[in-house]
Amino acid sequence: MNKSQHYILLSDCLSVLQALQSSNSHSKNIINFLAQEIAKVSNQILSLEFIWVPGHSGIAENEFVDNLARTAKDTKISKWISSHDLLYILKINILTEADTSWKSSKYHHDFSHLNTIKPHYRLLPYDRKMDVLLSRFRTKTHPTNATLFRYNLSLSPLCSTCHQVENIEHILFQSIKYEEQREILRRSLGTIPLSFPWLFDQSDDVKTKTFLVLSFLRHLQL
Ligand SMILES: [Zn+2]
Repeated sequence: MNKSQHYILLSDCLSVLQALQSSNSHSKNIINFLAQEIAKVSNQILSLEFIWVPGHSGIAENEFVDNLARTAKDTKISKWISSHDLLYILKINILTEADTSWKSSKYHHDFSHLNTIKPHYRLLPYDRKMDVLLSRFRTKTHPTNATLFRYNLSLSPLCSTCHQVENIEHILFQSIKYEEQREILRRSLGTIPLSFPWLFDQSDDVKTKTFLVLSFLRHLQL
């Protein structure tokens, strides 16, 4: 670079030139990075002009620069990742980070069955009401008397039949109000003792189990 020289930069990439012309804080990182580099250089010379050319071939200087770019191994060029690739990498990183933070959270112990949620586990015909019902139990967010009482939305935290605290576990495993439905579920699932993680873990035999659990929840008429 010569301080007393005017420079012209030829590029065949119109979109980059346009983006540089209107670069601002909302521009893509790569554009801001380029704009910064150009600003550094243009402070050291008389002037710098950008000219768009329809294609590189035939312009010796451009061919030269192209070759340099291709042979460069350890330059800032590694930052020049396309937005598509960058988004892909970011998405994977965000998912991995979310997964790590979920698995180390204090809630993971009680909800480890939620690890297995995957889009292809939608095996039942879509029914919003049933979906909500199943989800509320899987996430222990069904409004039981215990929860409603905590927010002053119920006069008592107790089950109206057994007079014990009515929480999710009480509804699923203890309340005599639902013993008949529970017995049907037990018989249809086999001799395996009912437990919360087992009922709502969808990692194996998903279709049958989910169908039976849902049918049980429906018949509780909550
Ligand atoms: Zn009860």
